[in-house]
Amino acid sequence: MFKRRQGGILLAALVVAGLGLAACRRAEPRQQSFQVMGTLGSVMAGTGEAARCGDYAAITLNRMRELEAILSVYSPTSELSRLNAAAGQGLAPAGRHVSMLLSMALLYGTLSHGAFDVTVGPVVQAWGFSGGRKPAEAPSEATLREKLALVGYTNILVSGGKCGLAKPGMVVDLGGIAKGYAVDVCCRELIKQGAKDFVVNLGGNMRCYGRPEAGRLWRVGVRDPFSADGTIGVIELSQGMAVSTSGNYERFVEIGGKRYAHIMDPRTGWPVTGMAGVTVVAPSAVTADALSTALFVLGPAEGTKMLTFFTNCAALFVPDKSGLEIQLTPGMDRHFKANPAVTAGVTMVAAGDAAGAGRR
Ligand code: AMP
Ligand code: MG
Repeated sequence: MFKRRQGGILLAALVVAGLGLAACRRAEPRQQSFQVMGTLGSVMAGTGEAARCGDYAAITLNRMRELEAILSVYSPTSELSRLNAAAGQGLAPAGRHVSMLLSMALLYGTLSHGAFDVTVGPVVQAWGFSGGRKPAEAPSEATLREKLALVGYTNILVSGGKCGLAKPGMVVDLGGIAKGYAVDVCCRELIKQGAKDFVVNLGGNMRCYGRPEAGRLWRVGVRDPFSADGTIGVIELSQGMAVSTSGNYERFVEIGGKRYAHIMDPRTGWPVTGMAGVTVVAPSAVTADALSTALFVLGPAEGTKMLTFFTNCAALFVPDKSGLEIQLTPGMDRHFKANPAVTAGVTMVAAGDAAGAGRR
């Protein structure tokens, strides 16, 4: 986890672009960016608080650095690395961030029927991500079976302030959820410090409060997965809402001339194919982050069923196929405004027996 991701950078830049026209009459919202947790973070302050943007960024960066030291899988001294090193040795005292993230990982693992699984670490590494060495060829089925035997969120142990992993060799990788969690932690901190109109972004996981200026909503561009710098539209967000995108263009390895993306199907051990991008809007950044990864694995039909467990969450799917197609789950049409050029390709998801699917 915590590797540089291009998608997030673009999203961050587009918050500014979305505001440019609206803000040119008077003071513009201010943005400050920084590198942390292996990706680009940023804070944007609305026009009324533009002078405090530097303070907001400093508070956010400090808090994100603290979390990185605890949650990074790359640092052997992080609490997460110690938890992984002690796999199979029962429960040990854990800090509140690790306890909280593992508890949430259990929830998302359960509700996704294992599509979202933070214990997918051994498989992620076998494909050359998260500190694993890039393999010369795709891992054999025998290797994947061996790695999959170590995968299973039900073997995460959380009890009374202690955590552990039931099997030796298990590896927790929080790359699919920790950035959203960090954004929520920072938003709470900024609110405590009196901030009202701001956006916190970490690698494409964003949460927005207040307004960029009176009468306007925060707007986040959604990248076109098939273009280096194009967008398919914007998402408008109101008070406290978050957005996260998982994409096959963000991180990938090339093995034998073929591209493999960084999101794994924990049921097969293979990188997910068939999906180019999934964007989720949710009431918290950690929810948006976990759901965008889960729905990337599940796809539109199963993903829409999973969303029925979540209030005020909606998703946008872009399948990985020629001819741009954008599928929206119920509720996403309130947030997403497609670029005029792609409006024709926008449909609502029809997800079998998913409640409310197909309505617009
Ligand atoms: P995101 O960009 O938020 O979708 O997270 C992708 C990252 O989550 C990957 O780089 C891995 O670190 C991790 N990951 C990969 N596959 C899964 C999965 N099926 N469930 C949970 N985390 C995963
Ligand atoms: Mg995620």
